[in-house]
Amino acid sequence: MQVLFCTVPITSLFNIKYYAEPNLGGTEITGALKSEGVDVIHLDLNAALNEYRFKNENFSNQILEQEDFNVLVSKEHLKKFLEDPTESLYIDRWATYLSKYINSFLNEQSIDALCFSVSKIMNEYYTSIGGFNISIILRKYLNYIDSSIPFYMGGKYVMTMLKQKKYIDDIEDYVPTSLLPTYYITGEAHLVFHNFLLENLKQDRDYIKQRNAGLVDSKVRIKPLNKYGDATYVPDLKPLNFKSAELDVSTGFFPKEMLSHFPELGQIKPFNYYNYRFTGGCIFKCSYCTSGIESDKMWRKDSPIQVADCLESFYDSGVKYIRFFNNNINFKISWLKEFCNEIVKRNLDIKWSDSANLKVGDRDMFLAMGEAGCIKLWYGTETVSPRILKEIRKDVPPERIDAVLNWSHEAGIWNCSNLLLNFPHETNEEYEMVRNFIKKYYDSGILNGFQATILKLLHDTEMGHDPERFRITLQEDHRVARKLIYTENNNASWEEIHDRGEYRLRHLGDLVNIFDPKFLGAGIFENDYFFFSMYEAYGKNKMIKKQIYTHLINNEKMYEDFIDKNLSVYMYEGYLYKKMFSKVLNERTNNSITTRA
Ligand code: SF4
Repeated sequence: MQVLFCTVPITSLFNIKYYAEPNLGGTEITGALKSEGVDVIHLDLNAALNEYRFKNENFSNQILEQEDFNVLVSKEHLKKFLEDPTESLYIDRWATYLSKYINSFLNEQSIDALCFSVSKIMNEYYTSIGGFNISIILRKYLNYIDSSIPFYMGGKYVMTMLKQKKYIDDIEDYVPTSLLPTYYITGEAHLVFHNFLLENLKQDRDYIKQRNAGLVDSKVRIKPLNKYGDATYVPDLKPLNFKSAELDVSTGFFPKEMLSHFPELGQIKPFNYYNYRFTGGCIFKCSYCTSGIESDKMWRKDSPIQVADCLESFYDSGVKYIRFFNNNINFKISWLKEFCNEIVKRNLDIKWSDSANLKVGDRDMFLAMGEAGCIKLWYGTETVSPRILKEIRKDVPPERIDAVLNWSHEAGIWNCSNLLLNFPHETNEEYEMVRNFIKKYYDSGILNGFQATILKLLHDTEMGHDPERFRITLQEDHRVARKLIYTENNNASWEEIHDRGEYRLRHLGDLVNIFDPKFLGAGIFENDYFFFSMYEAYGKNKMIKKQIYTHLINNEKMYEDFIDKNLSVYMYEGYLYKKMFSKVLNERTNNSITTRA
């Protein structure tokens, strides 16, 4: 059996970058398919489109025009585009290019199934809809793939967003049946999709023939696939076109001024990091997090030997940097120590980062992690106010935070804190505690990076389900972003809460001379292309990395373009896209009013 598996374009639809981040879910599913003997042509179309736009548009078209954007985020405009591609010349050109690109890898081989993985970026509706719409468009342009070939789309988060916007409900009124997926797969499909495909392919082929002939309902079938347990395959980290995703600094990533101060950064060979996870779920119950209310708290936990086997195979294929995508790598001390020993025993010279909690671990555990290649950890610190920590079920005393950061620092690990501002009823004093925490640990070099976001209240969290416990009252869904609007009982309106959050984010870094909130809110410290580049040039030397960040922060005006376009992990000029999305929504509302009138 032969399957064409593609990561569909997502970031590259909206911005051009020097690199393209690999898709975690796609690597897992293709790895699982291959382990069952399926022949997979694995392509990253996000990387392919990014490379195409980089070479042909060269940043001149960095922000889409409204009419191109519309085709990506609205089903009315998608319909028009499918009927007349001159609606967006850019999207027509991209889809034509990608169609030829895919064909060059197919090389006249036939395929038994077409799979599109739509990955999530940010909690914005427009990016999710963009991933869905471009999938439909690409299916049309892949006209050399017979319409009877089963077509699967997958991406759990994207479907959640589409459902919230009721986008998918009547999609068949806008899109020809032959372009709709045979199934849209949701859930934790990476562990089980290969079984589903092998079992269903024949009947799906029959179904699609009947659907194309108009004999069955054309409503998109959504299939949640879940399996709890361990993975037994090696993820396929490198799609066939993995080189297109790499950061090649020789094409101009670092500004000249930066290279004159830190010339070693210009000597780095093209590289990428890869995403990999070996746990699912989380043992904790934080009240603002969707994982906090999952009934099966930790549904996947591969054994240390299994994980080491995967890492060994990655290492043998030339992978050096890996970003583990676990919620908490330190869910159990004994597991982690055994894992670290295995890496050291096998001499695997890989460098990795992950998220960690501040509750589990001792000095020996952190030293073992440092020895096994851990070079960066993100701690879900959130706040240091004891009242809030208790309320959000994240009780960690200050002395414990201090101990963990020091052990980790001693092990040579780059320590970063994730912070959340503006919890319900957060007082000025509680906010000051966070600022002082940053001052104390960042200045002393024990905390090496941090980022903050303003609390986004999400539906499927304890806060969303039980607002009374947090003394808040829910009002409505936010129109553009995926979050709830609320008021604080006897304290603040939504406008006041919103303004307070913005103010607090703006001034969070004042005490350590970080005045631009983009360093805190746009994930600059989270950008691992920048971080791993520094590691590649200077190894474990924390001093020089801090000098580089300080140089960047102090000369922020000079590096504004570099920071905005390349270092923010979010969309460049995302606020413009939000405005464009708002326009599309208004247009939709006005049209439906006119139609009703
Ligand atoms: S915030 Fe992190 S630690 Fe807390 S429940 Fe969510 S994933 Fe787990």
